[in-house]
Amino acid sequence: MNGPTRTTCPYCGVGCGVLARVAGAEVHISGDPAHPANRGALCSKGAALGETLQPTGRLLRPRIGAREVGWDDALRKVATGFRRVIERHGANAVAFYVSGQLLTEDYYVANKLMKGFIGSANIDTNSRLCMSSAVAAHKRAFGEDLVGVTYEDLELADLVVLVGSNTAWCHPVLYQRIIRARERRPCMRVVVIDPRRTPTCDLADLHLPLRSGTDVVLFNGLLAWLSQQGLLNEEFLDAHTRGAARAVLVAENTAGSILAAAHACGVDASTLQLFYEWFGASERVISMFSQGVNQSSSGTDKANSIINVHLATGRIGRPGMGPFSVTGQPNAMGGREVGGLANMLAAHMELDNEEHRALVRQFWGVSELPERPGLKAIELFEAMYDGRVKAVWIMATNPIVSLPNAARAREALERCELVVVSDCVAATDTTAYAHVLLPAHAWGEKDGTVTNSDRHISRQRAFLAPAGEARADWWIICQVARRMGYTRGFEFEGPEQIFAEHAALSAYGNDGGRAFDLGGLAMLSAQDYADLEPVPWPVRKALGVDERPAGTDRLFTDRRFFHPDQRARLVATRPRAPRYTRDEEYPLILNTGRIRDQWHSMTRSGLAPRLGSHLPEPYIDMHAADALSFGLRQGTLVRATTRWGSLVARLRTSGEVARGSIFVPIHWSDQWASDARVGALVNPAADPISGEPEFKHTPARVEPFLVAWYGFALSRGQIPMDNVSWWVRVQGLHFTRYEMAGRNVPGSWEGWVRRFWLNSPDAAEWIEYEDRAAGIYRVALLRNERLEACVFISPRPDLPERGWLAGLFSAARITVQSRASLLSGRARDPAADTGATVCACFGVGRNAIKAAIADGCRDTRAVGERLKAGTNCGSCVPEIRRLIAETAAVTNDVARKDQVPDDGTAIA
Ligand code: SF4
Repeated sequence: MNGPTRTTCPYCGVGCGVLARVAGAEVHISGDPAHPANRGALCSKGAALGETLQPTGRLLRPRIGAREVGWDDALRKVATGFRRVIERHGANAVAFYVSGQLLTEDYYVANKLMKGFIGSANIDTNSRLCMSSAVAAHKRAFGEDLVGVTYEDLELADLVVLVGSNTAWCHPVLYQRIIRARERRPCMRVVVIDPRRTPTCDLADLHLPLRSGTDVVLFNGLLAWLSQQGLLNEEFLDAHTRGAARAVLVAENTAGSILAAAHACGVDASTLQLFYEWFGASERVISMFSQGVNQSSSGTDKANSIINVHLATGRIGRPGMGPFSVTGQPNAMGGREVGGLANMLAAHMELDNEEHRALVRQFWGVSELPERPGLKAIELFEAMYDGRVKAVWIMATNPIVSLPNAARAREALERCELVVVSDCVAATDTTAYAHVLLPAHAWGEKDGTVTNSDRHISRQRAFLAPAGEARADWWIICQVARRMGYTRGFEFEGPEQIFAEHAALSAYGNDGGRAFDLGGLAMLSAQDYADLEPVPWPVRKALGVDERPAGTDRLFTDRRFFHPDQRARLVATRPRAPRYTRDEEYPLILNTGRIRDQWHSMTRSGLAPRLGSHLPEPYIDMHAADALSFGLRQGTLVRATTRWGSLVARLRTSGEVARGSIFVPIHWSDQWASDARVGALVNPAADPISGEPEFKHTPARVEPFLVAWYGFALSRGQIPMDNVSWWVRVQGLHFTRYEMAGRNVPGSWEGWVRRFWLNSPDAAEWIEYEDRAAGIYRVALLRNERLEACVFISPRPDLPERGWLAGLFSAARITVQSRASLLSGRARDPAADTGATVCACFGVGRNAIKAAIADGCRDTRAVGERLKAGTNCGSCVPEIRRLIAETAAVTNDVARKDQVPDDGTAIA
């Protein structure tokens, strides 16, 4: 086995360090103890990275249409295609749509090509969908897009406020850091502000389930209350800010009293008052916010209302305090740094600033730069739809799944003259619309840098040879640039040269007026770059000869901000209702988000069996009382419809969703389910400043999706889903699982099932059970005493759990006992069925945890000691705690019943 390669996780914005050890065909993944983000910890997704590195589904060679071609043909096709459109229709008729999955070096050359050489600002990124409201808010408040805190500040805070962030599932390693910090310092308090009662609330001393879209009222109310209580830091406000008086006045006028704010937000007034009091009394406060704040038609104002209360109290720039926007993607921050958004230039410079444009023009050696912002994501696809943009190059993202109003985005691609897609995966919902497909490196092959949510620049290092003819994104972009005639400016031979140029640009003409400065890294040798340790920017040039450039943990420590007058701004924020509101036809509000074990459109995480076992299907989560009033039953199929589209998924009543709302996860695409792309339902409203779409608030309705039968199949081979009304595909270990349902009952179930296995040799053993009258059919296929496949059909959704049957696919042969139980779907020995996965890291199921609880494990620590569940990433701890509480409730209930006297009178 080779020594480990130190690299970085490609999923969320925590940016955990990863050690990857290649051992033959296997890659062993562990957390990097030396990385400051995670100190050796990984979440379930990071820990399963080794399972996603398989060659299955990789795009191995360039394609033009369906034809595989050589690189030269493909690159020439892209270059001439773009050139032709530019000559005929101008530079603004072409666009790049890129991704927070790209490395900084890839992003840098893409931005340089579009803005510096093609001469358009039409380059935008899927990060627009995730955190552009935070970017806009930072720029308004601080004069530059700056996150001032470090992860360590979360541990130093006395009060951690989590706003619109299901940290337990979306940034699990940060969640674990907060948990451990509170174990060390029990005085630390945690407040969760979120319409849903997410697993993150497990940690909360206070949960404020505010009404969707009312964040500005809540924080304006806090600002007004702080002012009334005389808790503003007048000295700080006078010396270092502007706009406080107006911000406070607007806050007072719009939020009113605590009672009025509580009423508007739909929360209990005494709970809101308690939060305000805790905030007022805690000097060290961190307000960490994420997509629940950003993904809104008033996302920028929401973020500024949070920043305002920190500026108003001077709680910024010191240990354990400050506003903290955490990004969703691994390199959203890197994209911001190089200007990957249509309204930014490069190195945090501004398109509409003549001085900045002059600097970049000189540095790049170009005569012109666009003076106005290009098209932001939603506008960009709209421009493709109406023909203004005729050629697009999509890099490392799947907009047909992730954009709002996704059906229109699909049509926009269909209307485009030239669609180029670079990706590492061959079949995605988006690659289906590509005229040219370019195979890019996947994680494990990539070599470059990323920046995480607390400004640490880390290396992603390659530890695998590229699959097929895959190439680095930066190489592909530079090759196209050269073939477009830009022979100077794209001669890079490695990512270290691009990084050096990027770093040099950040320091160019920078007298300290721009915080983003990597001058200290501009002269790195190739070896220095290879060995680069995680470092938080700014990394300014060292002054002394022997001095090594060091990073900067915390910003604003000198109370200096980056507006020309070096003062921060409090921005007066007026609450605005979401663009579309519920009505009789659409009486519910659709909220969307991530789940614990999947990532984006599942092109990678969907390949890892252990990640598919926790929540294997898309679902529509709703309050049980709403389900009752709409005549819907948990576990049945339901259609959710909005003005923009619809999907079908099973109904869940988890208890997390407030009345009047539904929640649907974002991950499922047409590759994994028949009809579950939630992007198709999301409204296209966007924040007028940031352009970030409103993913958290779309009016919707739900209704039953009536079917005649439900079923599932587990099979070593693929099964065509061409004859069913609804299906979901899940990758298992040595099998594929299909959940399915149909409106038509086949004449013969046996005939229907046998066509899946037409090629099965006669020697296969066929075990079958059918109750025609009841509509029940079950079959198992064995070959050489090994389970090959099984199918279970019923008119009702309450089929056996799949866990025990799934485990049989890992057995070399079926035992006599298992064979006897096969068609019951349940192990004869209950202990053999560990149940649906709760802990993905150690594959521990619900039944096993319940058995341990019944056997005396009364807290999560005891469960962890017995089963290891919850002892790695800890993301499942809230679920284990819930199982313990449920068991306690059942036990108490039984105890109460045991005490009921014979005459039946209740115990008081
Ligand atoms: Fe990766 Fe998990 Fe760390 Fe995020 S928290 S970077 S998904 S290991």
